[in-house]
Amino acid sequence: MSDRARVTRRGLLVGGAAAATALGIGPLLGQETTSPVPAASAVVPDRWGRLARITEGGLLRPSSPQFAAEALPNNLRFEQVRPEAVVPCRTPQMIAEVLAWCQDYEMPFAIRGGGHSYTGFSTSRGVVLDMSPMNAIAYDAASGRVRVAAGALNAQVYEALRGAGRMITHGRCPTVGAAGFLLGGGIGFNMRRFGVGADRLVASEIVTADGRVRALSGDEETDLFWAIRGGGGGNFGVSTSFTLETQPVDARLTVARLVWRDKTLEAAKALFACTDAGPRVLGSRIALGGVTPALAAKGRQVPLTLLAQYAGSREEFLALLAPVLAVAVPDFTDVRELAYWEAQHFLMEPGEPGWYRERSAFLASAPSEEFLETTIEHLRQWPGTGAQASLFFFQTGGQVNETPPEATAFVHRDSRWLGVVGAVWNAEDAARPEAVRAAKAWQDALYGVVNRFGGAGAFQNFPDASLVDWRARYYGANLGRLERIKAAVDPTNLFSFPQSI
Ligand SMILES: Cc1cc2nc3c(=O)[nH]c(=O)nc-3n(C[C@H](O)[C@H](O)[C@H](O)COP(=O)(O)OP(=O)(O)OC[C@H]3O[C@@H](n4cnc5c(N)ncnc54)[C@H](O)[C@@H]3O)c2cc1C
Repeated sequence: MSDRARVTRRGLLVGGAAAATALGIGPLLGQETTSPVPAASAVVPDRWGRLARITEGGLLRPSSPQFAAEALPNNLRFEQVRPEAVVPCRTPQMIAEVLAWCQDYEMPFAIRGGGHSYTGFSTSRGVVLDMSPMNAIAYDAASGRVRVAAGALNAQVYEALRGAGRMITHGRCPTVGAAGFLLGGGIGFNMRRFGVGADRLVASEIVTADGRVRALSGDEETDLFWAIRGGGGGNFGVSTSFTLETQPVDARLTVARLVWRDKTLEAAKALFACTDAGPRVLGSRIALGGVTPALAAKGRQVPLTLLAQYAGSREEFLALLAPVLAVAVPDFTDVRELAYWEAQHFLMEPGEPGWYRERSAFLASAPSEEFLETTIEHLRQWPGTGAQASLFFFQTGGQVNETPPEATAFVHRDSRWLGVVGAVWNAEDAARPEAVRAAKAWQDALYGVVNRFGGAGAFQNFPDASLVDWRARYYGANLGRLERIKAAVDPTNLFSFPQSI
């Protein structure tokens, strides 16, 4: 019999009252008495002991040697949010019991996959449900589908798919969790040909607030299956697995990194023109970097960087870029044909823990010349606080926009680019509030520029605590249905955090 069956909240209250009366400890329950009060531990249940039993000894408390490292979020802006315990989850049944424990003791909690939430939504002052033990990945050659347990990290998914010669739409950071990535939609260089990551989900499993382990697919629990495809992490329950269709890896793949440090405006205009007109087999990310006024005065240009993947030959890719290469000569060029998963290593973003903040908005067209001029001017005013700052654009469109916005919870189906104003701090600046304030103010002003030039919506996988209209920005016209599903499946709002539905 599980602890859940033996200890319910009502059971605790009723049993506790009876025990208190028997022991003559009225004050614990608000009764008048003058008798001596025995130690509270005589009647207060050993909640941590119960959790340790549920987790079969895996529980980590602050006294555990590995606790400090295990409790740390990826975004160190939230490192001061320390949980009371980290709870390694091994099975859906264990998760159901942990959720019951949280409800019984009214303990706040957060679910953690890879821990890369920009806004610290996977850490808590209560307990952290650490999904990392549930990381099994099974590829089925007959169906071409892969089943990924929800605690797996991107790197583990890459490794399994590499072995099978398959690919999906995935991100660039090996330590991002598969669950966080997929629940928010999931963008990557393959999305223009295969859709966002969640578009290829065929089934999933989730533990909901009532402790039920639910199978989701196009035939079962269809509302919830709709909601988890872009409805954002942590809203509806604890996801435990995802089953996705995969594709065979490309026979030829070209990857590239080019940097221009001269004629930025001309190069950016030409670069947006040729990538925007490029075929779906092109995936690209274009970044403009911040330069301090002091360096700008010395002639330092705003750098322009292209990171790209092209399913075709190096020659074809260079031909596609010919118009921009004719306008401005890159300062740095690295264009290679590589096997698919080696190419992904080339494109990788390590995702080491750090201090960062990102603000995103979707764009219905490539940035205009005026937009680029205005942002380049703003980037030349970067106060220099922190390690780096940039405005970068992920190329969207293609297959992403072929799915109707109401077909899944991922509503952003009419954009061509996703613009992101990013700021990264180093440890020294993170300790100086005035430096952080200056960086944020500069970032907010640039975000205002992006919005002025048509930026709309925001990517739920890049949560932004400063958005007041985040509901509309993340979910648009799908918000109403998401709220109805949330009310049905989580009526007491057990799964709650600052930007939960
Ligand atoms: C360096 C870096 C690179 C990135 N690159 C990309 C990219 O290329 N494409 C892209 O789309 N995104 C990218 N992201 C964003 C990333 O996808 C999101 O931040 C994602 O939510 C992180 O998932 P996680 O599991 O690592 O994080 P977590 O912080 O663990 O989880 C994120 C959210 O999901 C919830 N959650 C986690 N696991 C579960 C679960 N099993 N069930 C229910 N809820 C759960 C958490 O509670 C939290 O609210 C990147 C982020 C970083 C930091």
